[in-house]
Amino acid sequence: MENSLHSTETARAEESEKVKQLLKRQNLLLGQSLIHIDHFLYLHKSISRLNLEDIEEALVQKLPGILSIKYFSLFLFDKNKRTLKLACHNHPGWNEAKEIPVSKSNVMNDAILQGRYILEPDFKKSKYFKGKSNPLFKNHFFVCIPLMIENEILGVINLNESKSGGFSVHDLDFVLNVIEFISLSISNALLYQKTEMLSVTDGLTLLTNHQEMQEILKSEFERSKRYNFELSVVMMDVDFFKKVNDTYGHQVGDQVLIALGEIISNICRANDTGARYGGEEFFLILPQASHINAKNIAERIREEISQRVFETDLGDFKVTISCGVAQLDLETMDAPADLIHVADRALYRAKEGGRDQTVVGGDHGAV
Ligand code: GH3
Ligand code: MG
Ligand code: MG
Repeated sequence: MENSLHSTETARAEESEKVKQLLKRQNLLLGQSLIHIDHFLYLHKSISRLNLEDIEEALVQKLPGILSIKYFSLFLFDKNKRTLKLACHNHPGWNEAKEIPVSKSNVMNDAILQGRYILEPDFKKSKYFKGKSNPLFKNHFFVCIPLMIENEILGVINLNESKSGGFSVHDLDFVLNVIEFISLSISNALLYQKTEMLSVTDGLTLLTNHQEMQEILKSEFERSKRYNFELSVVMMDVDFFKKVNDTYGHQVGDQVLIALGEIISNICRANDTGARYGGEEFFLILPQASHINAKNIAERIREEISQRVFETDLGDFKVTISCGVAQLDLETMDAPADLIHVADRALYRAKEGGRDQTVVGGDHGAV
């Protein structure tokens, strides 16, 4: 009797211990999930932005801690050039701007082609290892995850050195969820960037549009006035363009405008603005350029377009342009419109003087 009582009590104690252990395990898992959710919300707040640079900065600060890894790198994929461009990372000593053909990295290439992550618990033993190991890496744990929206690849994230030496199924699940969220944020930021770009770009020539050109001229005018910098502008107009349209059709006319847009963007320097003023008129804003520099730039564009042969079913033809240059003169000009006016007058004189030429306006024109 006493014996059987004892065995029932033992069984109960064992049972209770089992339940306790189960509860403990479940609590641990629940705790982990809560920590993950907490981390997720924290990241969500930091990277739900529309500016790509803000997102990249937040990732550098928060991603390694949240994913429990030491190093990461994020590459953006350019599907036209088939290159991967380093967007952000926390690898010590990687300072240079990297842009590599996708084919140069076997592991990222495979992740992109397969559209799924590649996990290597010991990268040194994987087929991707090329024999050069980073001395900072201790456990060689590596995951490469493509950033995807629907089936479109946006880029790739590489994770190195998990802090615990590996990833559990639970960890991996969490990481993949976070990466999916990062993909969404980056996709939104890229779309926003594109919309911003479209709102300031002329759809046909891809040059700056008229409205944006006026904004840039206003700020360059103020900046040049404040710091006493030189500033010049050029107004350009295609000669007898109506005849091109009438003879070869409007579409061929458009091709001429596109070609001129390409020549202008190639010849302009990084701080210059090449804009479509309207119709077949173009406008250049050239900060820190004298009327002599501006005339040189205008002449290069004029010469290049005049040598271009346009081939059509109705025969080949060439076009010429006329240009008017104006340099900022603070004694006679108080507003950006004055610069435009002087350039426009000089253009008019170029037309009157026989077209296919550049005329410098204002007092400089007399030199
Ligand atoms: P000029 O040498 O005096 O400048 O003569 P022009 O024929 O170039 O001047 P005009 O201002 O009479 O004609 C400009 C033409 O440009 C008329 C217009 O139909 C055409 N045009 C304006 N915008 C576009 C465009 O986006 N595409 C095409 N194909 N033609 C355009
Ligand atoms: Mg015109
Ligand atoms: Mg014209």
